[in-house]
Amino acid sequence: MQLYNSATHQKEEFIPHEPGKVSMYTCGPTVYHFAHIGNLRTYMMEDVLEKYLRYAGYDVTRVMNITDVGHLSSDADEGEDKMLKGARREKKTVMEIAKFYTDAFFADCEKLNIKTPDIVQPATGCIDEYIHLIETLMEKGYAYEAGGNIYFDTSRLEKYYIFNDFKEEDLDVGVREGVEADGNKRNKADFVLWFTKSKFDDQELKWPSPWGVGYPGWHIECSGISMKYLGDTLDIHCGGIDNAFPHHTNEIAQSEAYIGHPWCKYWVHVLHLNTTGGKMSKSKGEFLTVSLLEEKGYDPMVYRFFCLQSHYRKSLVFSWENMDNATIAYNKLITRIAALNPDSGEAVDETAYESLREGFVKALDNDLNTSLAVTAIYDVLKAKVNDATKLALLSNFDTVLSVGLLDHAAALREKQAAERAAAEEAKRAAAEAEAAAAAADPFVAEILAAIEARKAAKKAKNFAEADRIRDELAAKGVTLTDTAQGTTYTIN
Ligand code: AMP
Ligand code: ZN
Repeated sequence: MQLYNSATHQKEEFIPHEPGKVSMYTCGPTVYHFAHIGNLRTYMMEDVLEKYLRYAGYDVTRVMNITDVGHLSSDADEGEDKMLKGARREKKTVMEIAKFYTDAFFADCEKLNIKTPDIVQPATGCIDEYIHLIETLMEKGYAYEAGGNIYFDTSRLEKYYIFNDFKEEDLDVGVREGVEADGNKRNKADFVLWFTKSKFDDQELKWPSPWGVGYPGWHIECSGISMKYLGDTLDIHCGGIDNAFPHHTNEIAQSEAYIGHPWCKYWVHVLHLNTTGGKMSKSKGEFLTVSLLEEKGYDPMVYRFFCLQSHYRKSLVFSWENMDNATIAYNKLITRIAALNPDSGEAVDETAYESLREGFVKALDNDLNTSLAVTAIYDVLKAKVNDATKLALLSNFDTVLSVGLLDHAAALREKQAAERAAAEEAKRAAAEAEAAAAAADPFVAEILAAIEARKAAKKAKNFAEADRIRDELAAKGVTLTDTAQGTTYTIN
């Protein structure tokens, strides 16, 4: 498989450290609010990557953190803890907020068919690991204490910027307006490993440490959790593109300083989902959540389908119009699949199966080209093979794409069968009602008998008799109308 590696700025052949095994770490949510559908685009693409690696035969171990402490309002260690802000907003404790939004996050993931990683670790559960890491960094001279906080000394590194060549002024990226820069830092790029002194001293969660009571920085959490579960080498590290700097850059700095050798081989970054107005936000404008999609009548599967139609390394624009178009395309696709016969009893055509599967594999082997993988679905539907082969292929593809191809088609088939049964029932009930009306009213019975006689006359091509019956009824004030469904009457 070819995978684009942000660290080397090129597509590379994916070769894990240990043959057949993949260790994968993905930065998890900061649980101070609901995830927006932009965040979920990132988790969804990571989910496809994990599932495709498993599909390709790798034994994958995937770890994800839950950030429940230390992620400040600005990624440059400034501002107050996002969790504290969330707790204050909702008049709850930080732990109540963390529990509520962690549950909400996994509920959203379930709706989008995003598998839960093998290991999910809240950041507050690994304080000892961070303290051990920081102590080692202090011993090795990579960290220093200033103004009560412990900082990583980026001047000790030969190369700090991995993903981009930043200029000094770029470092202001992420510093919120109105927040002063931290005067304790020896170098502008230095970052906090452990806080004991914060301008926001009402931090709710604090732990004792060799440097005083305090709390960890956000970046050290991901290094600590990754190394705890996956050891000191990592095959793939993922996140949204905004995580590349400073978060992942800092993770690499501290992890490699700690272990003394290269740490993670492949860095995979998902580009952002934007709105037509620009950056997606949890505070400005419409807060785009999975629940909002549902409230507006959109199936979360359609959102997944929409995301898969574009490449993860391209930013994607969300609009309601795009969702409408995706809904039409998705429904058409499901209708086509529902028309395939799941009970044909035919054998799968193995040769056709393998050659059609090749297209799918080729697409995903090429840096996870999901839009071409979606095209492979249509290629299957167009192919001249039996329904059993088509359904077997679609089921196979959906273990990776997870857009509900077969279950949604089965649901549609059931719905169509129920609708057919309801129409039959309505027809039967109408005939019954007519018969009952005829039985209750001799005049109606006479009209119905005449209609039947006229029908028989017409069938026998005795049109003179048919006309005579019509005229006879007309004389009694009954008008006949011939329709495609049969003859109806009105009594004038
Ligand atoms: P957060 O909960 O803010 O830590 O973000 C969770 C994940 O979503 C991270 O991997 C971010 O890089 C990613 N992310 C943030 N904004 C977007 C966006 N608009 N589109 C895609 N991914 C995003
Ligand atoms: Zn992280």
